[in-house]
Amino acid sequence: MRKESVRINGLDLDLYSLNTVIVGSGAAGLNAADRLYNYGQEDIAVITEGINMGTSRNTGSDKQTYYKLTLAGGEDDSVYEMAETLFAGGSMDGDIALVEAALSAKCFYHLVDIGVPFPHNKYGEYIGYKTDHDPRQRATSAGPLTSKYMTEKLEEQVRKKGIRIFDGYQVIGILTNTLDNGEKEAAGLITLNLNALENKEKRYVIFNCTNIIYATGGPAGIYERSVYPESQTGSTGIAFEAGVLGKNLTESQYGIASIKFRWNLSGTYQQVLPRYVSTAKDGSDEKEFLNEYFSDPGKMLDVIFLKGYQWPFDPRKVKNQGSSLIDLLVYNETVIKGRRVWLDFTKNPSYGSRNGELDFSLLGEESYRYLEKSGALFGTPIERLAHMNQPAIDLYKNNKIDLYNEYLEIAVCAQHNNGGLYGNHWWESNIKHFFPVGEVNGTHGVYRPGGSALNSGQVGSTRAAQYIAKRYTEEPPDKDAFLSSTEEQIKAKIELGETFASNIGSQGNVHEIRQNIGRRMDRAGAHIRSLKNAHKGAEEAKRDLESLRKETILSSAYELREAFQNYDLLITQYVYLSAIKDYIKNGGRSRGSYLVYDSQGELPIEGLDEEFRFSLCDGSLNDRIQKVSYKDGICEFQWTGVKEIPEEDSWFENVWNSYMRDEIIRE
Ligand SMILES: Cc1cc2nc3c(=O)[nH]c(=O)nc-3n(C[C@H](O)[C@H](O)[C@H](O)COP(=O)(O)OP(=O)(O)OC[C@H]3O[C@@H](n4cnc5c(N)ncnc54)[C@H](O)[C@@H]3O)c2cc1C
Repeated sequence: MRKESVRINGLDLDLYSLNTVIVGSGAAGLNAADRLYNYGQEDIAVITEGINMGTSRNTGSDKQTYYKLTLAGGEDDSVYEMAETLFAGGSMDGDIALVEAALSAKCFYHLVDIGVPFPHNKYGEYIGYKTDHDPRQRATSAGPLTSKYMTEKLEEQVRKKGIRIFDGYQVIGILTNTLDNGEKEAAGLITLNLNALENKEKRYVIFNCTNIIYATGGPAGIYERSVYPESQTGSTGIAFEAGVLGKNLTESQYGIASIKFRWNLSGTYQQVLPRYVSTAKDGSDEKEFLNEYFSDPGKMLDVIFLKGYQWPFDPRKVKNQGSSLIDLLVYNETVIKGRRVWLDFTKNPSYGSRNGELDFSLLGEESYRYLEKSGALFGTPIERLAHMNQPAIDLYKNNKIDLYNEYLEIAVCAQHNNGGLYGNHWWESNIKHFFPVGEVNGTHGVYRPGGSALNSGQVGSTRAAQYIAKRYTEEPPDKDAFLSSTEEQIKAKIELGETFASNIGSQGNVHEIRQNIGRRMDRAGAHIRSLKNAHKGAEEAKRDLESLRKETILSSAYELREAFQNYDLLITQYVYLSAIKDYIKNGGRSRGSYLVYDSQGELPIEGLDEEFRFSLCDGSLNDRIQKVSYKDGICEFQWTGVKEIPEEDSWFENVWNSYMRDEIIRE
């Protein structure tokens, strides 16, 4: 890595030149760095806005899941069969599915070898369990904090190798170079040095590099109701700005989560049958709002129980009083009626109880047997939770919430984006030398097995590293050549930053702008959608983006960080809402984890608002993928057929010969 100084806009800026920059210190980014080094490319660095920030480091769930090939027991499984499972989710490319299946064992064992505590039996078998959308038992877990352990162990590897980490550097622009044939390639990055925001000369740092591995995670900041950790914002917008295609952006996942401390309320939190309560904004007028929507108490209790297994909202599970009806009823209370919703573990639901005692005989076979086997047919929800899963109570206690004495406020929250930036089967985007990996890459389709996000992040970052280490080893250009293609782009970003910085007032508004972005997305682009709202939301986002430089007031230079994030989020939001609009215009209806208003459809249940009228997608768009490009405020869409799972020549001698002729790691 070379360090020089460049003079731009009258400022002397630091310029680093190196082969590859990895952006992001989540599980995907850290793995990319570790792998690249192992594959022989040592001229690399990690840039992160904060080493401990992001989803992987700060999230988890009841039993955070990692999906991989079956590695235990006598049950059949194969790479191809796992690829078929991933592909079956709909709108997923078969080549990506095959690679994710083929590398799943390699990536899993790498994590095992560096010390992530995945449990095995005394014969060394990694016993699996069944997760959602999984026909086998391919899932495993290192407990509620699987992804946190992954980042810790991967960071250990990165530090041991002496790989430089630029901690506290926020990427604000992706620099590109236009080739003679009109295609673009990545050229470098401009970052905001968060450790020196007050210093004009030090606040911008430039990177000149041959390759970028972009591991910035999901676009969490566009939502207000979110179970992404607070420290995750996402940076998809500046990638769109640089010309990277978006793919399957409509496919995000939503579900019930606590909001004071952000955590998925899946598994035992629901299986112990808590009370669902709503109140007025000030906490008065408490009522058990589910009661009036269920024909009998046993049905209501069964559905609460099922929410434990069936966590994400799924429009296929709405009708006939299915488990996803609960998400709609929570939304109805919070968004439509403007009330607040809580889970109360201290008392049994009154519908189905006598004198505070739950009548377990009302439960259906599945829920009754589960609680019986767990020895939990007794007491109150909190007593059952303490018996079945004490760490679930401790987790909240450690975050200053005492489930013995207080209600837990909840909402239907954004949790994961199946779609994202486009990448090919080496995870290289349409911009050459730019590799989106991890959640920012839209590898998944409509449905995906639980745990496949973590697998995809490890596989994608490994593939990108393999390709770069083999094919893209050249050093970056010298300073003058670099500046000849990027100087104007750098100047434009500095000019934007200095415009923000010139508008410092006693009362900044960056947080207010952020809140408006979040509220707009909750209204127009979360799990309840309509053409009208998507259109209105997209137009508003575009207007806000256009007026951002004029409207933004900072309370100090330290808020440059948020101002640039808002810029990124408004592009992201505009493109995502435009994608939703285009999907509905193309006949797209309810699927995945969202409901689309259909005036010809049915209401999920009598008495609910018209906006819940919906019909299910007939699957006709499941063999197609929506792609979008963004340029100068305009989104252009194309729909392509999914690639089938490749059926390659699997005769060993032939593959061996190709391998020896170096024909494998190629486009
Ligand atoms: C509550 C919850 C439960 C989940 N449970 C599961 C599960 O059980 N199984 C599963 O497979 N998946 C699960 N997921 C999803 C999974 O955890 C994430 O998809 C995955 O951790 C994302 O990893 P990543 O490395 O791609 O991104 P992240 O871990 O989010 O890392 C992104 C990194 O990029 C940095 N960054 C972002 N923008 C910039 C910028 N401009 N400049 C510099 N740095 C930047 C961030 O600070 C961070 O370091 C869950 C997610 C949530 C929210």
